[in-house]
This record gives sequence, structure tokens and C-alpha cells, in this order.
Amino acid sequence: MRLSKRIEVIEGSKTARFIPLVEKLRQEGRSVISLAIGEPPVDTPEPVIAATIDALNGQKTRYSDMAGLPQLRAALAREFPGCGPENIGIFNGSKQALYAAFQAICDPGDEVIVPVPCWVSFSEQIKLAGGRPVFVPTADHQLDLDAIQRAINTKTRAILVNSPNNPTGAVYPRQDLEKIARMAQKHDLFLVADEAYHFFVYDELSYTSLYALADVRDRLIVTRSFSKHYAMTGFRVGYTVAPAAVTAAMVRLHGHVTGNVCTFAQHGALAALDMDTDLLIRRRADLQRKRDLAFDQVSAMFPCIRPQGAFYLFPDISDHLHRGETSGGFAARILEKTGVAVVPGEDFGLDGHVRICFAAPEEQLMEAFNRLRGVL
Ligand code: GLU
Repeated sequence: MRLSKRIEVIEGSKTARFIPLVEKLRQEGRSVISLAIGEPPVDTPEPVIAATIDALNGQKTRYSDMAGLPQLRAALAREFPGCGPENIGIFNGSKQALYAAFQAICDPGDEVIVPVPCWVSFSEQIKLAGGRPVFVPTADHQLDLDAIQRAINTKTRAILVNSPNNPTGAVYPRQDLEKIARMAQKHDLFLVADEAYHFFVYDELSYTSLYALADVRDRLIVTRSFSKHYAMTGFRVGYTVAPAAVTAAMVRLHGHVTGNVCTFAQHGALAALDMDTDLLIRRRADLQRKRDLAFDQVSAMFPCIRPQGAFYLFPDISDHLHRGETSGGFAARILEKTGVAVVPGEDFGLDGHVRICFAAPEEQLMEAFNRLRGVL
């Protein structure tokens, strides 16, 4: 039987595929160190677990408001000046939030400008919405504002901004975001801001969310997540901050796709917002230390730009490619020879690189770099 043309052009998630692959190799007895999937290597905080268990014990196991628990929406709204619960939608991770955003704003043929390298799901989500991703190169991992300006045409519907960036860890300065904001106003475009890593900015660098630019809030959809910030990846709780009409449209879709996000997981998320932030700040400091350690090791092997946020390095491995080999071949060879899993740059739209997640236990990081050095 024929499948839809829409689904035939969609590729599986190139990051998520590492979860079963690594598991399979481990079951085969291989000693695998996964620096592939981006996930904090720490426990979900105790207050979140306790609130989730309380919610289960309290039979908070039924449907809830499709837009999200009212108290969770209200608590999130308080974190964004000028925002009310009507501007917040709760989704199954920021992945589904982004899916809903593109569904809400794209008509067939609409173009969304995506700076590359970029996270693996943007292109497929845009295509699923009938849109066309228009990839624009970055310059040393920062936005190339001229290239973005040149890519804008009458079909352009939105510009996607992902800061801190996955896979490069780049954090965009306020002045660049202001220029993007002016472009969006001038050409009447939406701005989609994937801010899943907003908490993970290092060296006390000041972080600007597009939400800080008040005059574009009427065209801005911010997506954020509890996954990384609170080590709650499996809870699948993410959210959007967007104009009320856009939020209502995304929630309308959500009501047909999944209904509410798991009710007791939302109670866990509510507790996360209330928890003492000391633990989270300590965890971020630990990640900064690992960033430094990983950067020292990796930049001794490959050219690499120092990431300012998120938890990835994106080194240029092109000098180590065999003739005709792509980053996919390199990553497969490294995995086969050393048991170290990294994600090929081509999966993020930039060959000649690999993504290395440094959010891993320190001894695993060191062992992985020793193995890599051995094979290089
Ligand atoms: N976003 C994380 C990553 O890039 C998790 C996997 C995914 O959702 O793509 O590794």
C-alpha cells in the first residue's frame, strides 16, 4: 500500500535514532560511550519526583485542560513580563511545541528561514506543515544577517532563531537579535525562537531571549522546555509563549493530536518552577566545567569554536575524513572502532563536522577522548 507523499519525504529523527542504536550495541556486549543524544546525565530533582508521586497518589491521572494545567500556565506567564496564561500553551516537549508552531503559521509553499547547522527536526516539522525550510549558512556559528536578509522573499513566512544553538552552542548577541527583529517587522514575518537551552549559558554571558524585544511579541513564538533545564527529558513537558490567537490555534491542533500533556507530569513541572534554584545553578556550573574540559580535549584534535551555551561541541573533522567519506561515515567508523557515539554534522545540515555532547559523566568524557585520540 502506498503511504502519503507527505510522510514519504519525512526522515526519522537523526538524534533520537541513537537511543535504540546505543542500547542495541550495549546488549551485544560493546562498551559504548554515548556522546550522541543531548540529555543531562543527572537525576530529576527530588521535589519534582515527589510532586509527581503525590499527583499520582492523588489520582491526578485524568484528562486536564488541553492548553495545560491552569496553575502551570499562570506560573509560567509570571516569568514573562506582559504575558498572561492565554499566551502559554503546554505541549509534549518543545519538540511538539515547535511542530504546533509550524502547523499554525505555515501554508503550503511558505518558506521558513533556518540558519544552519540546525537541530534535526526543524526541517521535517516545517515540511510536515507544508512549508519549505530555506537553509541559510552561519558565519563562525553566528547569524549571517546579510545572508538571512537575502533569503527573504514574498514566500517567506518566518525566521527561526535557536539560541543557545543546537548543535553549535552559539549564543546570539542582543544586537543581532534586534536586527532580526527589524527584518521580521519590515517583511511582516513570524519569529520562531527555540530556547530549549536558555538556562545553559556559560561564563556569565548575558543571554537575550527574543521575548526581551517587546515590539516583536505580536509575531513571536518562543518554545521552551522542562527537559534540559530540570533534567526531565522523559516527562515530555514543553511550552510556548506566543500571542493569544496563535496560542489558541496551537492548542486547537493539540486537542486533536494528543490532548493534554500527561497530567501528573505537569504537576511535576509545576513543582520544578517552585524548587530552590541552587541545585540547578550548581549543575550548570558543572556543565561549564565539562565544557572547558571537553573543549580543551577536542580542540587539541580538531578545529573547534568554543560553545557559549547548550551542551555540545561541533568540531570540524574534515581533515580526518577518508577519501569520499562524509561525517556520517566518520561517525560510523568512530563508533565501530572506539565505541564512541557522536552525531554526524551532515544530520544538522553541515558536513565535515560532528556533534559531541559534553553533558556526560567526566570519566566517560575522558575515556571517550582517549579512545578518539587512539584512533586518530
Ligand atoms: N534535542 C536533543 C538532541 O538534539 C534530544 C533528541 C531530540 O529530540 O532530537 O539530542
